[in-house]
Amino acid sequence: MLSHLHFDHAGNVTMFEGTNARLVCNQREKEFAFGFEGLFTGAHLKTDYEGVDFETVSGDTEILPGVTLIETPGHTVGCMSMQVELPDSGTMIFTSDAVYMGDSYGPPATPAAIVNNLEQWYASVEKLRGIQERTGATMIFGHDADQIHQLRVAPKEFYS
Ligand SMILES: [Zn+2]
Repeated sequence: MLSHLHFDHAGNVTMFEGTNARLVCNQREKEFAFGFEGLFTGAHLKTDYEGVDFETVSGDTEILPGVTLIETPGHTVGCMSMQVELPDSGTMIFTSDAVYMGDSYGPPATPAAIVNNLEQWYASVEKLRGIQERTGATMIFGHDADQIHQLRVAPKEFYS
């Protein structure tokens, strides 16, 4: 799953061509990423993903048992987060760039770096917060370099 198609998330996606990998992104993200004039706008670079046959989803979508893609636009038009249900560790939410860092999450939510639509961004953060409050989810932020030190990381540790 590609949360969105910025260069730091979609770069090298063409390496999966010819494999059995399902390359999934949001329908609106695909429309935007292929639809703008020229090769580059903001952090979308067409040469990263041109020719890739993306499978798309719209709306919150369970793509595998216990793995749900959550629409969280605002960072980009089709940015998605991912919710994973684990038998022992419980719910985990990978925000990708919908929430860059724990500091942005708050509360109060504080926009950081690229925000395409501020109103949608706030709504998406609060949508994720609502899921977290209902499920007790562990939040994994997309660009939080400090958070990694608080997480279990392979190969010695893992979530199950
Ligand atoms: Zn991004």
